[in-house]
Amino acid sequence: MNIHEYQAKSLLRDHGVPVSDGVAVTKAADAKNAAGQLDGPLWVVKAQIHAGGRGKGSFKEADAGDKGGVRLAKSVQEAAEEAKRMLGNTLVTHQTGPAGKQVNRIYIEDGSDIARELYLAILVDRATSRVGFVCSTEGGMDIEEVAAKTPAKILSFDIDPAAGYQPYHGRRVAFALGLEGAQVKQCVKLLANLYDLFVSKDMEMLEINPLVVTSSGDLKALDAKMGFDGNALYRHKDISELRDETEEDPKELAASKYDLNYIALDGEIGCMVNGAGLAMATMDIIKLYGAEPANFLDVGGGATKEKVTEAFKIITSDPNVKGILVNIFGGIMRCDVIAEGVVAAVKEVGLEVPLVVRLEGTNVEKGKEIINGSGLNVIAAHDLKDGAQKIVKAVKG
Ligand code: ADP
Ligand code: MG
Repeated sequence: MNIHEYQAKSLLRDHGVPVSDGVAVTKAADAKNAAGQLDGPLWVVKAQIHAGGRGKGSFKEADAGDKGGVRLAKSVQEAAEEAKRMLGNTLVTHQTGPAGKQVNRIYIEDGSDIARELYLAILVDRATSRVGFVCSTEGGMDIEEVAAKTPAKILSFDIDPAAGYQPYHGRRVAFALGLEGAQVKQCVKLLANLYDLFVSKDMEMLEINPLVVTSSGDLKALDAKMGFDGNALYRHKDISELRDETEEDPKELAASKYDLNYIALDGEIGCMVNGAGLAMATMDIIKLYGAEPANFLDVGGGATKEKVTEAFKIITSDPNVKGILVNIFGGIMRCDVIAEGVVAAVKEVGLEVPLVVRLEGTNVEKGKEIINGSGLNVIAAHDLKDGAQKIVKAVKG
């Protein structure tokens, strides 16, 4: 689960990490009052969406102006005007995809005098199975380019989970970032606080880009992105409350309500599969035969007819879906339950695209009977390869 910058900064502030003062607003009418609570002489007006690259993004609507999602203002009045221009409009960044995201909230904060922009992140590194710091002297809006062209400028330091964070980790990062004197001490403390916050809140990712050195020589977190482990949210009520469902893919949101493992993708073939491994293999083989999957979906082991029905509805609600492949290898999940769910869903929402069904395993005969007796226009497949070839042919001709 991800949260907004303004929420992440509030967590940072509470944990002793220096951030600017700021106020979040959802209505243009409140922006002037919000900006007036800050000292100036510089205000920064920031679109709050769950995506990075806001500074370099652009709005779809002309009335938003051509300045991107992070704007400087020299007066309270100007800050209020910029907030008004952005609110309700759609910001497109390299992370939002071409559809962009509607800006429903603006964070107005004190502008900082920046001497240097650094990059700092904490993440769970699967290669080392450890939590580690990632840092670079080349922070700011071009970090993706740095990673692509000069990866040696991005350094990683992992942390032994038994010993935990030690001041020497902080000193290493500080020296890697070219910090000097009092800044090294500040960095050691800042990283201790960040690491503590990361571990105590079960985060998956914490990114500060940029971490700046201000003109007075102090460190400050100027941007903050946080991602939390969904499996641990049950023990962090305070974090769960920060969830903003309007930022989530409506299909993924519906899937999470039914406890389905669903991830929306960009392709044209909807997949309904049981088991994560089979779901991955199904996506691979669709690609192999020249099409792209529209989703990852594992209906799981003990899915009910109702759950399968919901899953099918979610797949068909995606306008990109030009065909559906149901690929079930029944074990605990029985083929007849899947068949009943598919038939029920089609009766409810209709079927406007080709449907290929491959059933194998527990109760396969019963499952096939249900499908065949339903009168649905289903293309039967006898194995994974056959199923993939048939659906790709049905969609692509
Ligand atoms: P994003 O990463 O989504 O583009 P950031 O919050 O990192 O958004 O802002 C982009 C750039 O805007 C930063 O790299 C920094 O140069 C500038 N910026 C952001 N916040 C402030 C601030 N409070 N004061 C001064 N400049 C800022
Ligand atoms: Mg940033």
